[in-house]
Amino acid sequence: MCGIVAYIGKEQAFPIILKGLKRLEYRGYDSAGIALINQDQLNVFKKAGKVSNLEEFMLHQDHNGTSGIGHTRWATHGAPTDTNAHPHVSMDGSIALIHNGIIENYNALKQELIRQGYLFKSETDTEVLVHLVDFISKKENVWFGEALRLALLNVVGAYAIVAISKNFPGQMVAARKSSPLVVGIGENGDFYLASDATPIVEYTKRVVYLEDEEIAVIKLGEELKIYNISDQEKTPYIQQLELELEALEKGGYDHFMLKEIHEQPRSIHDCFRGRLNSSEGWVSLGGLKEYEQKMIQAKRLVIVACGTSWHAGLVGEYLIEELARINVEVEYASEFRYRNPIISEEDVVIAISQSGETADTLAALELAKSKGATILGICNVVGSSISRITDAGSYTHAGPEIGVASTKAFTAQVTILSLLALSLAHKKGTISESEFRILIAELEAIPEKVQRVLENNADIEKIALEFKDVTNALYLGRGSLFPVALEGALKLKEISYIHAEGYPAAEMKHGPIALIDENMPIFVIATQGNSYEKVVSNIQEVKARKGKIIAIVTEGDEHLKEIADYHIEIPKSHEFFVPILATIPFQLISYHIAVMRGCNVDQPRNLAKSVTVE
Ligand code: GLU
Repeated sequence: MCGIVAYIGKEQAFPIILKGLKRLEYRGYDSAGIALINQDQLNVFKKAGKVSNLEEFMLHQDHNGTSGIGHTRWATHGAPTDTNAHPHVSMDGSIALIHNGIIENYNALKQELIRQGYLFKSETDTEVLVHLVDFISKKENVWFGEALRLALLNVVGAYAIVAISKNFPGQMVAARKSSPLVVGIGENGDFYLASDATPIVEYTKRVVYLEDEEIAVIKLGEELKIYNISDQEKTPYIQQLELELEALEKGGYDHFMLKEIHEQPRSIHDCFRGRLNSSEGWVSLGGLKEYEQKMIQAKRLVIVACGTSWHAGLVGEYLIEELARINVEVEYASEFRYRNPIISEEDVVIAISQSGETADTLAALELAKSKGATILGICNVVGSSISRITDAGSYTHAGPEIGVASTKAFTAQVTILSLLALSLAHKKGTISESEFRILIAELEAIPEKVQRVLENNADIEKIALEFKDVTNALYLGRGSLFPVALEGALKLKEISYIHAEGYPAAEMKHGPIALIDENMPIFVIATQGNSYEKVVSNIQEVKARKGKIIAIVTEGDEHLKEIADYHIEIPKSHEFFVPILATIPFQLISYHIAVMRGCNVDQPRNLAKSVTVE
């Protein structure tokens, strides 16, 4: 997490950095800070809280300078205070540095630096970096860029770093390991650095994604130079950004989350592009095609993911096992990586991550790779770390997701997994040609059905009003709709701070039923399908305890409309694809409840997107 932005060139750095920080605020909003070099001065400004606090403070400051670095923080070490905010500055006031990640051996380094006479102002792990760079540059008599490289040889952990020094005003150095960093090459010899491409796209489309343990050395008037940590020069691989600026704006909606919820008919459709054609009767995930046989023959597919992506994985497990009859296991990446999992070259490990930077997921993949497994990825962010380390993968093409609570990325992940399940089943012959044809036509109709669910927004808002003040909620579903219940509960928790739990409907009687009283809303996915009757019985059990039922029902289900206290209709669809449709009302309910409670929907407290720390 943490957002990093930097600029060096002929323009004023402050407005570019400030705008960039606002674009990156989804990555953390505990504090913000900027350091600017103005002639021979290094000026540092830091404020706890959001970027807007810093912006207000800066109104009365001299913010001149054509080179600078900026940071928006998601605190890992030390409280979110002004002092702990980045940039951190060397004791002589010459070097300023920003960091995303965690320095795991910071304590040992700190003790050594204290012995050498260094005084620490903050409680962060980051501050050791700036003192270490300063110490090495003085001891070895080298410029700060070389000192950073030498310092990193002693550092254990994850980092994206940018450093400047007032003694070298036309220069900037950056390095990365396990945290993302992009360098933008401007047309007028200027350079932009950022955690992702969103602060850069406005100025240039020519970018270089730094690889692990690479160091970028920028000197005004010269070409960008890239070195590895052993000081060998590498040729920068310049890519063309495909991101469009308007995709980063709210487009008339009050919040990014609402915009992203409404984008889903389009994002799911985009996900199909070139991958599905029902009239010609084919499905093809280009990126994964080469590995389909491997997946069919694999002992098992292991899906590793975190949070919402883990829920998508659970839907995928259901679909792939049901349709293609391949054994699938879904693991929390953070658990998988630390429990010495039994993995061999007969396994295929698939990572799911919106950002493609999730630290635990990335580490789980590396572990699987070291054990000889084939590793595949499903990511949204093009060029992300996961997409680069995997043998092959599929992009979700959902477009930038700025709201911290994931919406369109989740439905796009489920869409990819649906395509994958169909493609594997077809190839393996576990479904007939006619079933295959019916299913792909059903899947192709999903974007239009999502649109119809969105049209119920006003009714969903009324239901939200009824329940905005509750303290607990239960979400129930069965089969592939159980993960949708989990996702519904997560959405409510993360943006409205209401305690919510998702459960397989039948498990309710093994504990959660004790919580039910007349104040408790129970959201149940009760669409027609295999376990319909069973879910109706579960609803009756809740009603007998006076719980309030909000049922997601299939259009035209008069019976359930009678029984439920509230209902939300979704269009009839094949059972396999109901998870996508049933997700939408839960997203809208959470959104409206959070707005009514006055919560910050796009930037919920304590959370951040793109979790690049373990
Ligand atoms: N560890 C640093 C801090 O706490 C950076 C945090 C991050 O990248 O999320 O300040």
